[in-house]
Amino acid sequence: MSTDPRRFDVLIVGGGHGGAQAAIALRQKGFAGTIAIVGEEVDPPYERPPLSKEYLAGDKPFERILLRPLAFWAERSIELLLGRRVVRVDADAHRVETAAGEAFAYGQLIWATGGSPRRLTCSGHDLPGIHGVRTRADVDAIMAELDEVQRVCIIGGGYIGLEAAAVLTKFGKQVTLLEAQDRVLARVAGAPLSAFYEAEHRAAGVDLRTGVTVDCIERGAQGGLSVRTADDGAFACEMVIVGIGILPAVEPLLAAGAVGGNGVEVDAWCRTTLPDIFAIGDCAVQANRFAEDARIRVESVQNANDQAATVATLIATGEAAAHAALPWFWSNQYDLRLQTVGLSMGHDDVVVRGGMATRAFSLVYMRRGQVIALDCVNVTRDYVQGRKLVEQGASPPRERLADAAVPLKELL
Ligand code: NAP
Repeated sequence: MSTDPRRFDVLIVGGGHGGAQAAIALRQKGFAGTIAIVGEEVDPPYERPPLSKEYLAGDKPFERILLRPLAFWAERSIELLLGRRVVRVDADAHRVETAAGEAFAYGQLIWATGGSPRRLTCSGHDLPGIHGVRTRADVDAIMAELDEVQRVCIIGGGYIGLEAAAVLTKFGKQVTLLEAQDRVLARVAGAPLSAFYEAEHRAAGVDLRTGVTVDCIERGAQGGLSVRTADDGAFACEMVIVGIGILPAVEPLLAAGAVGGNGVEVDAWCRTTLPDIFAIGDCAVQANRFAEDARIRVESVQNANDQAATVATLIATGEAAAHAALPWFWSNQYDLRLQTVGLSMGHDDVVVRGGMATRAFSLVYMRRGQVIALDCVNVTRDYVQGRKLVEQGASPPRERLADAAVPLKELL
């Protein structure tokens, strides 16, 4: 590493939601030291959720998804060091090094790198016309090709795949969606919600198939692509979109000696096992009180922002409450607004509130009689009132929960 690298009191690696929010919160808390964000992407920090929704749909230009106007960062003396990927961390020397060989020194390091999209490993995975959806550049590449595309094959039935399917169907594209599990959203939601979304997508014209494994992708006729599946299926298309999850981007930290594996382990204040190094967001593994203290990664904007606030408070003031924020998520598909609060993993019962046929209902997830999470589709009132049930671990009678006429606030 070079001998005299530039030094920042707080160096943030990763310019996504977590990294940007950490810098913003540090200044809000009165931190007067030097701050820099090193980001791999060339764009200033922007919102990621619209990438598979309004940005892909062309409803919001890039300027409208910036987390802050460009001038904000300079006004707050937050230096943006963009287009740089950190590949090495020297925890003893308090230094990092980028792929281009640039070095930066730090007083405290906040690792907020999120994850990189899992890639297919089958033959043909890197053919032209195959895209991920993680960055602005990914979506710009999709949009640039879209006029020439009639058939899209989406691999993966998580939020990326389903939200992209909703947008592309609206564009009049012929969409096939292939999910390896026996239902969509298997990682994040209960079976009734999966069944509901599968039916909605099929009704919108998506050829949605579950339990399907992709064998390979080949060049098809006239420059197109053909996605071949293990059950001898072949899906001709002009574009493939892959949304099969993320891999936490933590290699440099693990190589530096941090404890971790599928993510980097942090304590309740987001401290890694290395001195003066914090980790936040999708890449951080932390005990979660809403999952019976299981050590998990929570992949959400809310989690990144809340962990950023914890770290910023600790750095700026010297003390902070342990991170224990209530998880929440949302997803927009067609005219369906899904709002989730809590973590449904480990539920042993699901109560359905309201009729799914009305397209306005909630699922209440229970564990040993306690409410642990809600998925609310087009019922914001349940989402708002249900938060308290989750926070308090309430145990209302099942039949009252199932009665959509009973406001959830009466069940506290
Ligand atoms: P995801 O939620 O992990 O879902 C990916 C799905 O694809 C999983 O069900 C996965 O099954 C399946 N899959 C894996 N390999 C496959 C293969 N070879 N063929 C077919 N299916 C396969 O990930 P994602 O949808 O890509 O989203 C990436 C990240 O962005 C996540 O953190 C997600 O929460 C976030 N995101 C959130 C929102 C939102 O909150 N509204 C919107 C967009 C993205 P296995 O579990 O078996 O691997």
